[in-house]
Amino acid sequence: MNEKSFADYSLSDEIKRALAVLKYETPTQVQNEVLPLAFEKQDLVVKSKTGSGKTASFGIPICEMIAWEEKKPQALVLTPTRELAVQVRQDITNIGRFKRIRATALYGKEPFSKQKEELKQKTHAVVGTPGRIMDHIERGTLDLDQIKFLIIDEADEMLNMGFIDEVEEIINELPLDRITMVFSATLPKDVENLCHKYMENPIHIQIETTT
Ligand code: ADP
Ligand code: MG
Repeated sequence: MNEKSFADYSLSDEIKRALAVLKYETPTQVQNEVLPLAFEKQDLVVKSKTGSGKTASFGIPICEMIAWEEKKPQALVLTPTRELAVQVRQDITNIGRFKRIRATALYGKEPFSKQKEELKQKTHAVVGTPGRIMDHIERGTLDLDQIKFLIIDEADEMLNMGFIDEVEEIINELPLDRITMVFSATLPKDVENLCHKYMENPIHIQIETTT
């Protein structure tokens, strides 16, 4: 039974109001498992089915912990596809709307120059595909100095699509003092290996339900 409501969490009014607008009342199981540990700044490896609410499970803690005044990106979310990057950017914008959190999506097939201009504005969270993020790093248009949260979303898809080298290159550019959370519907060996290589004693969470 899942009796807990978002009101039982000590969330800020801004985030609570945003969840009310989204009509999120009861956390899903993965959200109930992830939220407390994310707020404790634990590295997490989360295996949970599609549709179980993984985005808000990382979106809520990062929006809550982002410092609005900081002018550089503090959260980096890697996604395997452009569609997912756009979706996650929108979800973070929705959750962070009353904190005026700005999120930027970076993906291929959109002009580099447009994204470069967006990155010149203050942005709190960057969501994107590994190839285009690597492009921005190489061309010096993405500053990762202040990244405190790394999220690898749909890690199994990411590695299936052959992004392992880019993902590792990006991780190697990030500050070591950060929280890393990996989300995946399945945990094949290559995902486990990646987690083992780049995370410090992560807690594993496995959820079987979608609600
Ligand atoms: P996953 O990443 O696990 O596939 P999503 O994060 O995309 O799942 O969420 C699936 C759907 O559930 C989305 O439409 C999202 O808006 C909705 N959702 C997420 N959390 C809640 C919640 N606590 N209450 C109601 N709907 C939710
Ligand atoms: Mg998802």
